[in-house]
Amino acid sequence: MHETGMVAVVGVPLDVNSSFLRGSAKAPERIREALHNDSSNMSAENGVDLGSNKGWRDAGDIGSADQQPSFAEIEEHLGRLLAAKSRIVVLGGDHSISYPLVRAHARHHTELTIIHLDAHPDLYDELEGSRISHGCPFARIMEHGLAKRMVSIGIRTANAHQRQQAERFGVETFGVGDDWTAALASLRPPLYLSIDLDVLDPAFAPGISHYEPGGLSTRDVLEIIRGLPEPPTGADIVELNPDRDRHGVTAMVAAKLLKEIIAHMLLVPRGDRR
Ligand code: MN
Ligand code: MN
Repeated sequence: MHETGMVAVVGVPLDVNSSFLRGSAKAPERIREALHNDSSNMSAENGVDLGSNKGWRDAGDIGSADQQPSFAEIEEHLGRLLAAKSRIVVLGGDHSISYPLVRAHARHHTELTIIHLDAHPDLYDELEGSRISHGCPFARIMEHGLAKRMVSIGIRTANAHQRQQAERFGVETFGVGDDWTAALASLRPPLYLSIDLDVLDPAFAPGISHYEPGGLSTRDVLEIIRGLPEPPTGADIVELNPDRDRHGVTAMVAAKLLKEIIAHMLLVPRGDRR
């Protein structure tokens, strides 16, 4: 294994498509603070030290919480980073941003597979009159053929409509008690990883808008990341709501996931880069 590649971290402070509570637009700043907080260091579990490694950079935010970016602006900005062959980790924002993010990736990578970690399927055809709500991104992605395969893990709120949508789009859905190891082992790159922090049990991540008890542990999510047969070409960490956080613990969880994803992306076997 060799340390290769450039990873760009980008914030997308957008929460206008949230159905219940705003607040996630403040998340990118809080996650960066947690990442650089002196209470921990920048070493990841695979041995990569983000403090000294020059393979990644913080590429700033697209827009701001006060001037929230449009989907077109998000897609265009991502397109520029992808044209430079970067792997990208995006800090949300609400989950609606995965639609323009995956659109940008689909222009540069054919036959994407999405690994989606969430309490919710996010497959609504429309929610509260909006087709770009944070409850809808994967319906838009799948109906536009932006991914060839989608695996959702941690789902525990699928209603009849969303089960029907999952069937229509062929989404492979795993609940919290299910065994997803064979599905993960069968994944073929390029991979896109989308982490909605409410996939975690609220005990681990209280700083979110939609509490759905009975979720995954932080360790479970880290093992999923570690178990991916290839590092993802793109990833997002969404739905942190700092207004609901306690002592920044959820921001720290997001920063930990960010650190481990970057470190995973930086350890790409030579010859396997795309
Ligand atoms: Mn969710
Ligand atoms: Mn979601």
